[in-house]
Amino acid sequence: MTYSVGIDLGTTFSAVAIVDEATRMPRIVNNGEGAKITPSVIQFIDGVPRFGTEAESAFNAGELGCVATFKRGMGSGKPYCYIDGKAYTSEELSAMLLRHLKEEAEAELGGKIKDAVITVPAYFYSLEREATLRAAESAGLSVKKIIDEPNAAAMAYSLSHWRENANILVYDLGGGTFDVTLVKMGHDGELFTVTTRGNHELGGRDWDGRLESILHAKFQEELNEETRADISTISYVKGLAKGVKKSLSARESVKVDATLPNFGRCSVTITREDFEKCTADLIERTGDLCRAVLGESKLDASNITDILLVGGSTRMPQVSRFIANIFGKKPIAHVNPDEAVALGAAIQATKTATAYFDLSVKVEDGKKVTDRKDLSDNFLSSVKSEKKLSDVGLLSIKETVAHAMGIIAVNDDTNMYYNEIIIPANHPRPVRSAKKFKFYTSKHSSNEIEIYVLQGSSENPVDCKIPYKYVVTGIRHVKNGDTRGTLVRIQYSYDDNGIIHIQARQEDDKTDLTIRKDAVPTDISKYGKSVEKETRDVPASFLGLQTGRSANQDVVHKFKAVTFSNVEWSNYDNISSHPSGAKYNEPKVHVKANEKAIEFHGYNISAMDEGVYYTLGNDDDFEIECDIDTSDIKPHPGGNVNITLGIIRASLSLNGGDMFLDGTPVATVGSRFTLKMSLSHGGHYEIYIDDKLVGSKDKPDERNVDVRFGLEHGGHHCELLSHAYISNINMRQRANEDSENSETETWGDE
Ligand code: ADP
Ligand code: MG
Repeated sequence: MTYSVGIDLGTTFSAVAIVDEATRMPRIVNNGEGAKITPSVIQFIDGVPRFGTEAESAFNAGELGCVATFKRGMGSGKPYCYIDGKAYTSEELSAMLLRHLKEEAEAELGGKIKDAVITVPAYFYSLEREATLRAAESAGLSVKKIIDEPNAAAMAYSLSHWRENANILVYDLGGGTFDVTLVKMGHDGELFTVTTRGNHELGGRDWDGRLESILHAKFQEELNEETRADISTISYVKGLAKGVKKSLSARESVKVDATLPNFGRCSVTITREDFEKCTADLIERTGDLCRAVLGESKLDASNITDILLVGGSTRMPQVSRFIANIFGKKPIAHVNPDEAVALGAAIQATKTATAYFDLSVKVEDGKKVTDRKDLSDNFLSSVKSEKKLSDVGLLSIKETVAHAMGIIAVNDDTNMYYNEIIIPANHPRPVRSAKKFKFYTSKHSSNEIEIYVLQGSSENPVDCKIPYKYVVTGIRHVKNGDTRGTLVRIQYSYDDNGIIHIQARQEDDKTDLTIRKDAVPTDISKYGKSVEKETRDVPASFLGLQTGRSANQDVVHKFKAVTFSNVEWSNYDNISSHPSGAKYNEPKVHVKANEKAIEFHGYNISAMDEGVYYTLGNDDDFEIECDIDTSDIKPHPGGNVNITLGIIRASLSLNGGDMFLDGTPVATVGSRFTLKMSLSHGGHYEIYIDDKLVGSKDKPDERNVDVRFGLEHGGHHCELLSHAYISNINMRQRANEDSENSETETWGDE
């Protein structure tokens, strides 16, 4: 017989469970020592790993060759410890532990394990989840799914305490991590996660640390000696503190009779009150996260039906008391905090994979957030009476995305890097989203773009985790009407296990692009600042990254000024011959938009002009309004500065110039005036000078429209164009109803 198991791979303890064929209920599979939980500790003896209580005792006694709490280093890729000169990563150590758990469970069950569901903290990032997956695979386990620990606990609890519409807060305080998750009981045995928060650096071991301090202080008082100065005493007290902490969960005070390695016997008494006083700030930190979960779910404490305690550290009486204070009710006690996670994982192991959900987002205060329509209507509906579910088959769970996922993009003003969120936090998973970006590509060389994947909601990229960097290669330069904007659609898939996958496509013909993984640079501080003036070291493609828009959102491009300076046309004749295909040397052109230098390569020239471009789709509304003062324009004699919006062109030199509509002059202007040009949805052009309509026309063809600030020179032998300047340009791009940047236009198997 083969088995599907659930494995709680904990920081301090791990457990294995299965669903019993006969009862259709989950149960723990005992380990080789007959215990329900196995310490997550390894002791190496001559390079051979040993597990179980022996390893734990050796660790507590401070013996060499022991390692514990290695889950904390998951996904870092760095060694977690060195034993006998050999480095071990958390992933390798976890693989050894998993192999041990597997072998013992197989012996106990008398059959092979076919596949497994493994649990991780809800707050684990993509890299940590990937590492867990790899560890399991190298332990010979086929992973059916990675499920979040609080969700697994909620499943185990729900089986015997199902209450339709209940809002369950799962408070999981383990040995090294803290997670708090709001899980909703829906209809028909369907559970779903609403919000989750956590702290990976907070757990029982922090309480241990405080107790060690108390112990040292008391010993020192007794002995009048600095016990902390002795390394073997430190390690002895470490082991002692764990036991004392557990005793304090059962008793108000504990008498500790210790034999300190270099100080001899010493007796002290620790009270629970002492302990609680000096850990009050730690418990308060869990409270902050509970309140954050309530805030994000737009609930108050009274809307919480039940609080479920998970994790060994919730046995400390201060936890229940603290929770009762916040929520006005006692947490529920009838679940075993050591076993619930593994039991839930076993239930999940009976399920098949979930299909991808459609992305559902809304904009709130200018920020993209998950639109959970499924929640709003039944959040506050009355909670039905409790019942038992007779079979694990009656239960299912929808898990969510703990961290928003975005990409480093350049804002519309092209002066700041920011986190463009592609999948917001708290979205049901698995989910896909594919967003279209515009890149300035070259016709003459191969094009690459860099993708920095972000996890976190912060607008500033450096405040987020950057789990991956990818490089998309082989992007074809696409001539889009008359512009250089090549559109690439980037897809994020957040799978059922909480791992991110990236794909890219050329937008015009939907061909897949090759992506390679690249090391994330150690110093990413520059993405926390404004885009630097001297940007030559940044790939041009990256600079060109433009944000798309979501439906019904206006984009305002504001340029204080577009400045052209020191434009050297050293190879003018070659340039003019470019359209016929002749090779030319690229001139040195600098166009500054809002003080940011943009370098152009391999551009498409007609009649020698150069400038800044935007491309509009056929359905776009666009308006340019600017104050023009050409008295400062100093192009080469005979040259002009042009502003165009499709068929509208303003061609200006020192003393003003002409306005053209579809090639016909409609007005002549002086050197100072306000110009407004607009293209409305449906294809109607209007041109205004000082607020007076001077011409209008329907859009003559279906081509995309090009918005351009450029230089033009019709003559020959132009060698240097020193300076040109247009000020106060305001462009408004109104959203159209069916935005082309549909984030639901995804691709994949489903
Ligand atoms: P993890 O999921 O991180 O492996 P567990 O949920 O197994 O952690 O909890 C382990 C933690 O619980 C340890 O820090 C341990 O000291 C603590 N713990 C276990 N029992 C008690 C108890 N009776 N009183 C206080 N803390 C306890
Ligand atoms: Mg745990």
